[in-house]
Amino acid sequence: MAQFKAVKIPAGDLIEYRDGRLVVGDNPIIGVLRGDGIGLDITPVMRNVVDGAVQRAYGGNRSISWCPLYAGLEGLHHYGSEFPDETVEAIRHLRIAIKGPFTTPVGEETHVCLHCAHQQYHPGVCDKCGRDDGVTERFRSINVRFRQHLELYACVRPVRYFEGVPSPNKYADKVNFVIFRENTEDVYAGYDFEQGSEMAQAIIDLIRERDGRSIRSDSGIGIKPISTSGTRNIVRKALNWARDQQLPSVTLVHKGNIMKFTEGSFAKWGYELAAEEFGEDTVSEKRLWDELGGRMPDGKILVKDRIADSVFQQIQTRPDEYSVFALPNLNGDYLSDAAIALVGGLGLGPGANMSDDLALFEATHGTAPKYTGMDKVNPGSLILSAVMMLNHLQWGEAADLITGGMEQAILDGHVTYDLARLMRREGREDVTELSCSGFGQAILERM
Ligand code: NAD
Repeated sequence: MAQFKAVKIPAGDLIEYRDGRLVVGDNPIIGVLRGDGIGLDITPVMRNVVDGAVQRAYGGNRSISWCPLYAGLEGLHHYGSEFPDETVEAIRHLRIAIKGPFTTPVGEETHVCLHCAHQQYHPGVCDKCGRDDGVTERFRSINVRFRQHLELYACVRPVRYFEGVPSPNKYADKVNFVIFRENTEDVYAGYDFEQGSEMAQAIIDLIRERDGRSIRSDSGIGIKPISTSGTRNIVRKALNWARDQQLPSVTLVHKGNIMKFTEGSFAKWGYELAAEEFGEDTVSEKRLWDELGGRMPDGKILVKDRIADSVFQQIQTRPDEYSVFALPNLNGDYLSDAAIALVGGLGLGPGANMSDDLALFEATHGTAPKYTGMDKVNPGSLILSAVMMLNHLQWGEAADLITGGMEQAILDGHVTYDLARLMRREGREDVTELSCSGFGQAILERM
C-alpha cells in the first residue's frame, strides 16, 4: 500500500491498468485537485453534478470515491510547495484525476500570489489582495509540469456546439470533433535559444559548416523535434478514440508542404501506424479513391491528412467533415483555441491530458481571480471534463445524463452570467442568470 503524508486515500477501488485497458471497479478512487482562484467555486459544483448523475444512472450500485490532492495554493499550505512530489505520485497511484485551473506566473516579477495571481518583487504580504499566506517564488507552469512529470503525451480537447449558445459561426451547430494534440515535442520541447547566445551561434555555425546554408547571424534559434515514436503515440490515441466512439474519420494535420521531415513526416508516420495497427478498421483517403472508387466501406474509419492552414478554413466552412484531428504541438495549440471560439468559446471547453495509463482531466480556462469565492462563474468546462472522465471510465450513462442536463439548461436559458450576457446581446429575453452552484443545480434538475 502506497504511503502518503497529506493525501488520505479513501475507501474504494484503485483503478488498475491491465493488458492495455483500464480496470475500473464500482467505487473507483479518483483524485481531485481543487485548483486556484475560481477552482474554489467550480470544483465542488462539478463533484455535486457528477455524484448526482452517478446516483441517478446506477442507483447505489456505483459511486466515485473522491480523493483530494493538493497543488497550487493548497499545495503551498499542505507541503510548502505549489507543485508537491507527493501529488504527482498520488496521481500516478490513482491513475485518474480531475483538476481546476492553476495560477501561472507571466512576466519577469519574482513572486506570485496564488490567491489573486498578482506578481510582485517581494515575498510576504501580497500588494494586491493583502493576504500573507499565498505569495510564493516565481515558478514554472503547474499545468506544464504535470504534463511533463506524468508524461501525459496527449492533450485531448472535444469541441461541440450547445444549442442556444451564441456563436460567431454560421455552421456552429455542425461542429462536433475531438482534437488530439501532441504534448511533449515540437516547439513545446523548449529548445529555444536567444539571439547572440553561444547555443544559437553554435547551431548557426554547424548548419553553415555541414549544410552549406547560412542563417542570419542575428537570429534567435528554435528547434522543432518531431519523432516517429511521439507521432505514433498521438495518432494511435486518436485512432483508438475514433474506433471506440465509432467515429467516421481521423485527420492528420500538418504543414508538410513547408517542413517535410517534421510536419510532413507526422502525416507519413501517422498513415503507417494506421496501416500497421488499425489496418482492419481504417481506409486511407488514397486507397478510398485509388481502389474503392470513393465509396467508403461501412464501419471503417477514413484516415486523411490536411495542410494546417486549410484546416483552419475548413473547420469554419465544412466542420461536419471532421470528427477527430491528430496534430503536432503548435498547430494543435492554435486549432484547439480557434475551434472553441467557433462554438461560442469561454466556459464550455473541456480537456484532458493523457498517457496510456494515466489521465488528468481539467478545466481549460484560467483562475479568473476577480471572481474567486463569488459563486458566479460558469462551471461548464470542468463539468464537461468530468463527462469525458465518466466516458473514460466507460460510465457513459452517467456522462449522458450530465450532457443532457446541460443541453436542456442552456436551451431553457438557465445559465451563468457569461452565457446570459451573450444570449441577451443576441436579443433573447427569457434568460435566467444563475450562480455557479445554481447552474449545477439546473443541470441536476434536468437530468
Ligand atoms: P482566465 O481564463 O482566468 O480569464 C479570462 C477571462 O475569462 C476573464 O474575463 C474571466 O473572467 C473569464 N472566465 C474565465 N473562466 C471563466 C468561467 N469559468 N466562467 C466565466 N468566465 C470565465 O485567464 P487569465 O485572466 O488570463 O488568467 C488568470 C490566471 O489563470 C493566470 O495565472 C493564468 O496563468 C492562469 N491560467 C491557468 C490555466 C489552467 O490552469 N489551465 C489556463 C489559463 C490561464
